Amino acid sequence: MAKRDWIWDGGRPSVDLVNTLRDRKTGHRELLDDADALAEWLRLAELADVGAAQAEPYLDAARDLREVIDRVTRGDLAEADVTALNAWAARQHRPPVQVRLTERREPVAHVPAPDDPVASALGAAAVDAITLLLESSALRICASETCGLRFVDRSPARNRQWCSMARCGNRAKARQHYARHKTT
Ligand SMILES: [Zn+2]
Repeated sequence: MAKRDWIWDGGRPSVDLVNTLRDRKTGHRELLDDADALAEWLRLAELADVGAAQAEPYLDAARDLREVIDRVTRGDLAEADVTALNAWAARQHRPPVQVRLTERREPVAHVPAPDDPVASALGAAAVDAITLLLESSALRICASETCGLRFVDRSPARNRQWCSMARCGNRAKARQHYARHKTT
């Protein structure tokens, strides 16, 4: 069970990374507040199985990359950000699959870990953001006045308003309901 209230409603790993800075509309709440948090996020995002010691040198870089991804995927496109995104994408490293033999000499696949798993994982997030950018999928920001979470809108009518119905949608409905009854 994770200690931190990670949210995985972004629809893509790069958007989930952006959402590790919470409450963007009302000041900021940093969830990647130490190396342990970054390592936990990378593990839960299934991008890298690493500990805090491995994540530590990348903490500032991960936060910087997150903000680059946020600007670019919202359509705030600057050369410097695109260059940074491409540089990170180039660090994604996927060693080719190898074969190993079991005790009974049956071949099984073995995928070696990349040399630098954290850099490779952040590279994967950058690659994901580039894919999102080039697909020009509908990236939206939660309609709540306080939330600010980003998500990819895959609803059939492209009219999803909330990061999640359970979190912000129902709260907004309750507020409307309350306001209606107060005035009558
Ligand atoms: Zn929300």
